Amino acid sequence: MPSSSPDVEALKQQFSDFLKRKQYRNTQERYKVLDRIAELDRHFSADELYVYMNTKGDSVSRATIYSTLDLLTKCSILMKHRFQGDSAHFELSSRMPDHDHLICVECGRIVEFRAEEIDGIRDTVAKNLGFKPLTHSLQIFAVCPDPVTCEHNGRD
Ligand SMILES: [Zn+2]
Ligand SMILES: [Zn+2]
Repeated sequence: MPSSSPDVEALKQQFSDFLKRKQYRNTQERYKVLDRIAELDRHFSADELYVYMNTKGDSVSRATIYSTLDLLTKCSILMKHRFQGDSAHFELSSRMPDHDHLICVECGRIVEFRAEEIDGIRDTVAKNLGFKPLTHSLQIFAVCPDPVTCEHNGRD
């Protein structure tokens, strides 16, 4: 799915305001992490980001990456997903508003999609229960059709 490239400067401003307000240390490393996330422009785990930053020659510790991801999630710049198992995946909230995820339970492949019908269901359910709908997050667990990487397909 196409996505417009993120406005990194605006995100940095938002992050800087948050750090100041909460009195966290305003270190260059944290902004570097945000830069690299914007370059990635996809879902990633903390370990994947660590490996990516290492290949780019950044000397940022795993601990800094974990704590920065935590802060970026707290100020809503990042969305944190738990697709399956324990490893959390992150993505920029601004990337693709209100998209949902189809997750292959065999190979872990994640496909993003937009289905407007789901927005309708969200709004109806929330209103019927007296809530004001804001956003939603839906995960569909399935098996993908890739015969090369997906174990499930090799077994059938
Ligand atoms: Zn996504
Ligand atoms: Zn698969």
